[in-house]
Order: sequence, then C-alpha cells, then structure tokens
Amino acid sequence: MLKYVDYDIVGSEVPDEITLGITLSNCPFRCRGCHSPQLRSDIGTPLLPAVLEGLLLRYGDAVTCVCFLGGDSDLLALQQLAQLVHAVNSTLKVAWYSGRTFLPSSFDLSSFQYIKLGGYEESLGPLTSRSTNQRFYRLTSRLELVDITHRFWKE
Ligand code: SF4
Repeated sequence: MLKYVDYDIVGSEVPDEITLGITLSNCPFRCRGCHSPQLRSDIGTPLLPAVLEGLLLRYGDAVTCVCFLGGDSDLLALQQLAQLVHAVNSTLKVAWYSGRTFLPSSFDLSSFQYIKLGGYEESLGPLTSRSTNQRFYRLTSRLELVDITHRFWKE
C-alpha cells in the first residue's frame, strides 16, 4: 500500500502541464543528500482508491496532469492508481517521479505519459542541472520513451 504525505498544485514538475503533485512515502532508496529524508519512512495517509478519487473530483478540473512523486515501494499499487486517474478523468495525463535508474521489464507503462528516472546524485545535481544523471521522459502513443530532460534546463 502506498501512503501520501502531501499534495499540491505545481507548475514545475512536468513541462507544459499544470500538475497535481502527490508526494508518496516509504522510498526504498538512500540517496546521499536526499532532499526529504523523512520520505524514506512509512509515514502518511494510505492513498486508497477512494482517497485518490476524492482528490481528482476536487482538483481534476484545475490541472492537466497528476504526478506521483515516489511510489517505488509498491509498483503494482502505483500502476493501479495511475489507471484510476484515467478511469475518473480521461483527459488527465499521469506522471511518475521514480528514484530507480531502470524500469522493471514487467512494468506497465500504458497509464503513464511522463516518467522521471534516476536517484539523486549530489555531485551531478537535480533535473535542473545540465550534469544531472536523472532523466525525464515523455511517452509516445507507442510507449516509446522520449528524453525531454533538457526542458528543465534554462536556456
Ligand atoms: S529517491 Fe528521492 S526521496 Fe528517495 S532517497 Fe533518493 S532523493 Fe530521497
């Protein structure tokens, strides 16, 4: 089960989208210099389907995208929640910020339009750094990953 610690409407997580960002806990990774070490603990409120539906009913018309920030500890639950977003509001896109470097081969990409991969490497910097190890992808209708990390870099 995934738990969330907060949510907010944000403009910087996904290029060209107004996003409802939902921050999930129980991160299995241990990046040095982690921005939010508390997210490594199993804290927060269970993100049950009814809870997500409530958020979508309240904020779905104000955003163009829902972004799950974390969720690596329960990929099945994450995929089910992503499917639920489209079932409730088919116009919304779904993004996922993962701390892993590679997706498992069994991972179902079909409910996602954006995916960020990669943990935080202090020496390389976050997505906004040109030297970052992290990668931000847009998924095509054929589920091909298109690297659009450069959209986070200032010209
Ligand atoms: S993936 Fe994110 S939340 Fe998890 S340890 Fe790394 S920086 Fe922290």
